Amino acid sequence: MQPVSESSRADLPATIFPLSDGIGAVSLVQHVGDDKMVVNAARVSFGGDNSAPMSARDEKLIGYLLRERHGSPFEHNLLTFKVVCPIFVDRQMVRHRVGVSKNETSGRYVEMTERVYQPSSFRRQAPSNRQASVADDGTLNQAAATLIWAEAWRQSFAAYQALLALGVTREQARGVLPQALYTESYYTFNLRSLLHFLGLRDHDGAQYETRLYAQAMGSLAEPLFPVTFAAWRSLQTGH
Ligand SMILES: Cc1cc2nc3c(=O)[nH]c(=O)nc-3n(C[C@H](O)[C@H](O)[C@H](O)COP(=O)(O)OP(=O)(O)OC[C@H]3O[C@@H](n4cnc5c(N)ncnc54)[C@H](O)[C@@H]3O)c2cc1C
Repeated sequence: MQPVSESSRADLPATIFPLSDGIGAVSLVQHVGDDKMVVNAARVSFGGDNSAPMSARDEKLIGYLLRERHGSPFEHNLLTFKVVCPIFVDRQMVRHRVGVSKNETSGRYVEMTERVYQPSSFRRQAPSNRQASVADDGTLNQAAATLIWAEAWRQSFAAYQALLALGVTREQARGVLPQALYTESYYTFNLRSLLHFLGLRDHDGAQYETRLYAQAMGSLAEPLFPVTFAAWRSLQTGH
């Protein structure tokens, strides 16, 4: 994965390019809260919330909350990402329904721009897991796959433009565009829903491209909630 981009302007969001093509991107647009907010949300139940800096006791509490699945104290913290991803990645992201808000570019309002994801290498179907893929062992004809992908895209986008030129409405013409088309959205997660998302999508079982997006989101979020992420990662790995 590429590192967070160097931004020359302080008002520009930090951006990661998960697919390394300069198009697919995850930017952190805004965030609300910090680790202390989690602690205070948990402690308010017995009047123990405070504005003191994070203590070792606070850190222990976060670990306890995660371990015992007391999730609601993590819901007061929010992160908004701008996500530019292929439609097939977005179809997986949008399955995360709870604690997630989304607004997306509309192919009804605007003409779709010719931005397509072209894999830099193709993978094989996994022999044992029907969902999974495995790296090419050198037997895949990468050049042929690249050509077929590019030609399919060229024909689809030409058809889209031809339909528009005929006067067909944008909302119908977009039907000929493939799932590799890039789409862009604002996604807002609360910290609880983000950890749930990362647990499922930054995982061996997730689609590789979606996993890269999840890793990018995790990388942008982690420095904002270092105690929560440290405790969560240690639970994930079991130590
Ligand atoms: C590796 C992988 C493979 C997948 N394969 C497929 C597939 O082949 N086909 C497919 O359709 N989907 C597939 N999914 C999507 C998956 O089934 C979930 O829809 C998706 O991961 C979102 O998870 P979630 O429901 O836990 O998250 P959210 O929608 O954010 O829900 C969070 C939590 O809230 C609770 N919750 C949410 N809605 C309800 C509800 N209606 N009733 C009760 N409790 C609820 C649950 O505890 C849930 O875990 C796959 C996901 C992964 C990670």
